[in-house]
Amino acid sequence: MRLVLLGPPGAGKGTQAQRLVAKHGLLQLSTGEMLRAAVEAGTSIGMRAKEMMARGELVPDDVVVAIVSERIDEPDARKGFILDGFPRTVPQAHALDRMLKEKGLKLDAVIELKVDEAALLKRIKKRVAEMKARRETLREDDDPEVLRRRLLAYRDQTAPLAAYYQLESVLHSVDGMAPIPQVSSAIDRVLREALTKKAAARPRRADGAGRARAGKTAKGSKTKAKTAKSGRSRAVGQKSARRKTGRGQRLTKRR
Ligand code: AMP
Repeated sequence: MRLVLLGPPGAGKGTQAQRLVAKHGLLQLSTGEMLRAAVEAGTSIGMRAKEMMARGELVPDDVVVAIVSERIDEPDARKGFILDGFPRTVPQAHALDRMLKEKGLKLDAVIELKVDEAALLKRIKKRVAEMKARRETLREDDDPEVLRRRLLAYRDQTAPLAAYYQLESVLHSVDGMAPIPQVSSAIDRVLREALTKKAAARPRRADGAGRARAGKTAKGSKTKAKTAKSGRSRAVGQKSARRKTGRGQRLTKRR
């Protein structure tokens, strides 16, 4: 599964991504986390991004596109990934499309967490105040003014991505203001739908032989074991294999 989680800062993307990691074994690719790690490590990317991040501005597209592309190539991303915080601009979405195409991959779903901005700002301010009261370390951009700017950046540059992915028929909107377990259930429903769609779109051989062979092979290995025990088992195995395949059904009818 390859997913994008879309939503403004504080919408709960991180929380939901972590749950999906635990439940489906997907890899969470958070560009914010990757950039913060680069800042911490003092790499050239980190040095370029530090000031912009502190001001709540977006880091240049080429920087994030490059780090995401490299990360997707790593073996642990093969099973699938959740992009959290990327893409954030339409050019980034185009770059992601190109990047995935080159790698022979496709997005399965884009999940937008829809939230009320005013309520969100209140929620974030409350969280920051609570963290301060507990003397917990705050992020440099966990500041009401910076948050306001990050929300503005989201509205101007990221929100248009919903229309972009709507046109690509991969967008699913979920009420991000609902309690966390309800948001999680809504996301699970979207994933089930996307998986069903993916399975239905998987290319099949026109004559159905691919399916027939798959059925026979799976059955065949069991049948072999049974054959050693009794001839009746083999007959049962063959019949049920036929029943499970379009081809088998036709053969049975002709007889
Ligand atoms: P986040 O943790 O996703 O809220 O990201 C924190 C900060 O990292 C953002 O305010 C931006 O400065 C930067 N950032 C993260 N992801 C991106 C992105 N896809 N494009 C540009 N800047 C980003």
